[in-house]
Amino acid sequence: MSKVHREHGAGGELMESLIKEELLPNLTMRGEGTVTLDDLDDGATFPSVDGEMVMTTDAHIVDPPFFPGGDVGKLAAAGTANDLAVMGAKPVAFACSVVVREGFPIDDLKRVYRSIDEVLSELGAHLITGDTKVGNTGDVDIVVTMTGVGEIVELVRDCGLRPGDKIVVTGTVGDHGMAILAAQQGLETDLESDVAPVWDAVNAALEVGGVTSMKDPTRGGLAGALNEMAEKSGVRIVIEEERIPIREEVRVLSEMLGVNPLEVANEGKVVMGVRPDIVDDVLDAIRSTEVGKNAEVIGVVEEGTPRVEMETEVGGRRIVEKPIGDPVPRVC
Ligand code: MG
Repeated sequence: MSKVHREHGAGGELMESLIKEELLPNLTMRGEGTVTLDDLDDGATFPSVDGEMVMTTDAHIVDPPFFPGGDVGKLAAAGTANDLAVMGAKPVAFACSVVVREGFPIDDLKRVYRSIDEVLSELGAHLITGDTKVGNTGDVDIVVTMTGVGEIVELVRDCGLRPGDKIVVTGTVGDHGMAILAAQQGLETDLESDVAPVWDAVNAALEVGGVTSMKDPTRGGLAGALNEMAEKSGVRIVIEEERIPIREEVRVLSEMLGVNPLEVANEGKVVMGVRPDIVDDVLDAIRSTEVGKNAEVIGVVEEGTPRVEMETEVGGRRIVEKPIGDPVPRVC
C-alpha cells in the first residue's frame, strides 16, 4: 500500500504496521526515559529537572506541506522548539500528533517524520510519544501538532524590555512567509523558507548575558512581534528601516505582490531586547552561530506610549502597525 488508507488510523493491525514498519524507522531520537517511543505505550517518560520547566504546543498547517527550504515536519519541530527557545528553555522532549488525509502518500509521511527527526537530532531532543489519525483535514493534506517541554537555562519573557535596551534581530526578515506565498502563487523564485531551530543563537546570547526579552516573529512577522513586546513591556520601540536585514528576493517579491515583508512569518529568527552595555558582545556571539550569522541591531527601546515607530530610509518617522491578520494564508 503506497497511500494512507482510512484503516491506517483505526487503531488495528494496519495502523500498527504503518507505525512500526514505515514511520518509526525514520526516527532516531525516540526518548531516553524508562518508557520511550519504541514502547508504544499510552505515554512516555522523560528525565525531570529541579524546579520549573517550559511547555508549549502548536498545530502546524501549511500549504503546500512541502515547500522550498522545508516541509510541515521541519516546521512543526522547529516552530515548537523555537517557542521553548525564546523563553530561554533548551528543548528536551516532544509529543507529536498527526492528522493526515486519506490518500496521502506514505512516502511523503515518512519524509515528514524524517524532517522532524533532523531537527530533533540537531537539538539533541527526543520525540517520545505521538498519535496518528486519518481523517478530514479541511483545506490541507496534513496537520502536525507538536507539544514540547524544555529545561530553563534562563527564563526570558516577551514583556521584559526596558528603556535603553537595543533591539536585535537574528537574521533576515520575511523569508518564510514570502517563500510560502511564492509557492502558493506558483512563482519560480530562488527564495527558501528560513525554517530552522534557533536554540544555538539563543544559547549563545544567554551565555553572554543581558538579554531582557525575546520573541520569535512567526505569524504577524516582525511588526507583530515588536508590537506585542512594546505593549506587554509598556515601552516604545524605535527601529531603523535601513538596518532591518531583508533579502533582495524578499524585497522584490513583496513589492510585486504588495505584501509588507515585516508582516509575514519567519520560522528561524528571534527578536531580542539586549542591555546596551553588552549588546556588541551578544551580537558577536549570535553571529558566530550558523542560524544567527546575519544578526543585526535594528533599533532601541525608549520611554513613551507603547508602540513601534520606524525611522524610514527617506528620513521620516512612521508608526509600524500591528498586522490585522496574516497576509499569507496557511503559512505555519
Ligand atoms: Mg512564539
